[in-house]
Amino acid sequence: MSLTLADARIVTPEGVHEGWLTIEDGRITHVGHGSAPRAGHGLGGRHVVPGFVDMHNHGGAGGSFPAGEPDGAREAVALHQRHGTTTMVASLVTDSLDRLSRAAASLAELCDDGLLAGIHFEGPYISKARCGAHDPALLREPSPQEVAGLIKAGRGHVRMLTIAGELPGALDTIRMAAAEGVIAALGHSDADYDRTRAGIEAGATVATHLYNAMPQLGHRAPGPIAALLQDERVTVELINDGVHVHPAMLTLACEVAGPGRTALITDSISATGLSDGEYLLGPMRVGVVGGVARLVEGGSIAGSTLTMDVAFRRSVQELGLSLPDAAQVASLTPARVLGLADQVGSIAVGKSADLVVLSDELEVAGVMRRGAWIAEPR
Ligand SMILES: [Zn+2]
Repeated sequence: MSLTLADARIVTPEGVHEGWLTIEDGRITHVGHGSAPRAGHGLGGRHVVPGFVDMHNHGGAGGSFPAGEPDGAREAVALHQRHGTTTMVASLVTDSLDRLSRAAASLAELCDDGLLAGIHFEGPYISKARCGAHDPALLREPSPQEVAGLIKAGRGHVRMLTIAGELPGALDTIRMAAAEGVIAALGHSDADYDRTRAGIEAGATVATHLYNAMPQLGHRAPGPIAALLQDERVTVELINDGVHVHPAMLTLACEVAGPGRTALITDSISATGLSDGEYLLGPMRVGVVGGVARLVEGGSIAGSTLTMDVAFRRSVQELGLSLPDAAQVASLTPARVLGLADQVGSIAVGKSADLVVLSDELEVAGVMRRGAWIAEPR
């Protein structure tokens, strides 16, 4: 079965061109310029970008990955797919080791089914001073043995571990995770500049939501932000929802790290796609007012109700990124971080046919995943 999409503005890492593409058995087999050689599904000149890759997401549509319930997790995946996310990692928050292991084992089945691209433990090995929406009573000091147990619970699908590099045992744990092929991400951390550098030297390669839940950038105390932004080995996650980070600071990060080391994430919680109200993030109660999620007790920002299409659109309309750069930070860079860039992340021959068709206003007009329409453009 071959499908041709014609009359499209195709966004590739090289630029934007008018053209067409063909898809066979879920993969892109041709990307052409100008008119298609045969009749196909005309897209009316609309833009086509690669499906979004979200490497930090806690749920949506009422489904919460930390709850570890497969039905709710499937609802969350389906919601984000309709918003253009064709590859996503399920992020767990701080909880007891037992509950974390059970959630990971449950989500591993969705990874087996190809619905999720992996599991991320955002806690419990994080700083009490920077724990944000994580339960401070359940935080732990990391040890390679204990983390190896959690990794095992995920049956090969654990992709990322967020860790505060200043904790006792953190550097050994980062070395172990990296050796096991698990991405060590520095975040929810109170570390200074030097200790952050030590975490990078030990093998950490991602900054968990840069700026949020870490010391601020200071001219005599540069802190983790400067260390993470400046190191060529590190990719920085950014939450571009207009709430978590000022647009000027998002632009600063994009300019210093460049689109090749910047990854948009949602940090979305179960409330995404639903109305304001009270929800759970792991064991914590979260109130959502005007789409902004905060802990009921204490008022910390508790994830977001963001979807990747909105993050993508804001990166063009608010930050002024070009479409190819926006596609890079929303798709190709996170795909590379996850080790999936040979499969997804850009519109190229041989890659999975994961595509988002956008209106002139950059709203989602259609979504294709693995060659099948999630939402077919009219
Ligand atoms: Zn998170």
